[in-house]
Amino acid sequence: MTHPYPRGRGVSSPEYGHCTDKLCRPLRDLRISVTDRCNLRCTYCMPREIFGREFIFLRHADLLSFEEIVRIARQGIALGVRKIRLSGGEPLLRRGVERLVEMLAPLCCEDGKPIELAMTSNATLLAKKARDLKNAGLSRLNISLDALDETIFRRMCGSRAAPIAAVLEGIAAAQAVGLTPVKINTVVKRGINEDEILPLVHHFRHTGVILRFIEFMDVGLSNGWRLGDVVTARDILAKINAEYPLRPLDPHCPGEVAKRWEFADGGGEIGVIASVSQAFCHECGRLRLSTDGKLYTCLFASEGVDLRDMLRARCDDNALCQRINAVWRERDDRYSQLRHAMTWNPAGKIEMSYIGG
Ligand code: SAM
Ligand code: SF4
Ligand code: SF4
Repeated sequence: MTHPYPRGRGVSSPEYGHCTDKLCRPLRDLRISVTDRCNLRCTYCMPREIFGREFIFLRHADLLSFEEIVRIARQGIALGVRKIRLSGGEPLLRRGVERLVEMLAPLCCEDGKPIELAMTSNATLLAKKARDLKNAGLSRLNISLDALDETIFRRMCGSRAAPIAAVLEGIAAAQAVGLTPVKINTVVKRGINEDEILPLVHHFRHTGVILRFIEFMDVGLSNGWRLGDVVTARDILAKINAEYPLRPLDPHCPGEVAKRWEFADGGGEIGVIASVSQAFCHECGRLRLSTDGKLYTCLFASEGVDLRDMLRARCDDNALCQRINAVWRERDDRYSQLRHAMTWNPAGKIEMSYIGG
């Protein structure tokens, strides 16, 4: 089967036109959930009351195979994707995920540059896997860590144990093998871990690790989100700035979700992701692929478009590309921009562990 785009034309193929959505946003990022399972139960993502023993996760046969994921990724790249992020659930729980990294890493964009291949992980299993991931071709890692205090970690991550030492070992291993700069994602919930902001900053300043504080979001339907639980990026920055003065930094690229700041004394960089208080939908070029092969055009979507049936019915690459293109062209999502004007809570919002955070 020949590729639907002649080499070198890709997204600007006259047949398909530029792959932009209804709000003229180009397709740039593909987030892939490789498993809906996790070994933690963060209250803001997979609260134990909902994701308990009775919860039915996907069967192995329902998951996309690595070969199926790569086929979709290739077509995404032909339509403009520059960056792929593996997520979940906890991606390191997917058996052989290093092999998937090895299969995706050589893929190149239209201009011949390799794609950026990243992963988001809770790092509890990272220490032993960091080298293999690096050797397989992973470019970067984001690691979630909400607290250094054990009691607060347990409250945030719903776990009976507090595997903070394992996470810190994972971070050290990632740095040692050159998966740098390691970025740490910290979700901040009012009254739970806001007092961990400064200890985290203190711990990671001067280490080359970039902390990114994320406003608690109303993803899915299970985390009991209330606006009052959100600590805004402004408050987070004010707290840090009072102790460690900050200066703004320019974004690396358009569409970067984290606003960057540096410590005035040269202690490094931090970021804040103000998804609730300062929506960035106007620049959002992210498409999400669920564990079982559905495409979602927004983190807050309630319906996806199935690709797995197509793949398993042996569709050709051209048809797959056309389906993805059509999904993106129909996209007009901007949930975060509309959130405050909404008088209803949309039914059926999908959970983040299923579509990949
Ligand atoms: N298990 C991996 C991890 O925790 O890094 C990857 C999946 S997790 C869903 C991806 C990211 O989503 C994590 O950094 C997590 O903190 C973030 N996240 C999950 N639920 C969130 C919420 N309600 N608000 C803000 N961020 C959230
Ligand atoms: Fe698991 Fe990550 Fe969700 Fe926490 S945020 S429950 S580690 S998937
Ligand atoms: Fe993108 Fe949807 Fe988030 Fe807006 S709300 S930034 S469109 S994922």
